[in-house]
Amino acid sequence: GAAFGLVLVALWFLLILRYSRHQLSLATELRRAVAGEHIRVQYQPVVELATGHCIGAEVLARWTRDDGEVMRPDVFIALAEEAGFIQDVTLAVMRIAVRDLTQLRREFPGIAVNLNLAPADLQDERVGTTLASSLAAAGLPPDAIKLEITERALVNSNTSRALIRDFRRRGHEVAVDDFGTGYSSLSYLQTFELDVLKIDKSFVDAIGKEAATSQVIVHVIEMARSLGLATVAEGVETAEQERWLQEHRVAFGQGYYYSKPLDLEGYVEFLRRRRTA
Ligand code: C2E
Ligand code: CA
Ligand code: CA
Ligand code: CA
Repeated sequence: GAAFGLVLVALWFLLILRYSRHQLSLATELRRAVAGEHIRVQYQPVVELATGHCIGAEVLARWTRDDGEVMRPDVFIALAEEAGFIQDVTLAVMRIAVRDLTQLRREFPGIAVNLNLAPADLQDERVGTTLASSLAAAGLPPDAIKLEITERALVNSNTSRALIRDFRRRGHEVAVDDFGTGYSSLSYLQTFELDVLKIDKSFVDAIGKEAATSQVIVHVIEMARSLGLATVAEGVETAEQERWLQEHRVAFGQGYYYSKPLDLEGYVEFLRRRRTA
């Protein structure tokens, strides 16, 4: 009995060890990819619902491993967060976005790019100062880059509150991302200086399907309005969802209904076909 138990414990331990070594080598490979500028990006258009004009795009990180395997960003972003180098990923994505914006703004003067920030990015001044200096070096105004901050990053920390304020003072628009997936209340959200609320895809999915969830999204829209925040619905996939969102005066939409995330060339083509705001 005791011997059998011991064997089980030993096996379990070996399994954990193997798993953590796998994670460790994956993190090492990711770190190398970031340093070697092997992280790519795609752009997903954001559309003004009243006019159909494209106002900009969200920049999404992409990583293809050395062996050709495509890693999902939610997986490798979490890995970089756990391993403590998410800021390097953010800076790598930012560098590409600023470079691409220089090209994009020549043809589409008002176009903007939304950059995702992780919670740790809001504990570190480096991201904000690098953003300011790289925009200045490229001769781009601060409103060319907007920031998306997930609801879970709005932790009760003076640092994140102060850094969000700094971003806005420098002229960046700030959006709360994935709204509705956390537990922020109206009064809590009010304690942050924000411009935009992105309604999470899970709520958009429920439109026309689940009455109860549709009620929640109505509530979220009203809440955004009362806080003076513009709204962006994410994960719009159908004409029916678009119509519903237009009727409820949601300002912007993003999703496969308009476009999947695109490489820079594809995004330029998209902008040429659609008028920009
Ligand atoms: P997110 O910020 O909520 O980004 C939107 C995600 O929804 C993207 O997934 C996008 O491809 C997907 N999406 C957009 N429209 C639709 C739709 O109509 N239907 C469906 N099924 N999906 C849609 P993606 O690119 O896989 O990114 C996943 C998450 O990874 C992002 O969620 C974000 O949290 C994170 N992420 C991606 N790039 C970055 C980055 O550069 N920095 C940070 N911190 N996080 C990133
Ligand atoms: Ca986002
Ligand atoms: Ca989102
Ligand atoms: Ca989401």
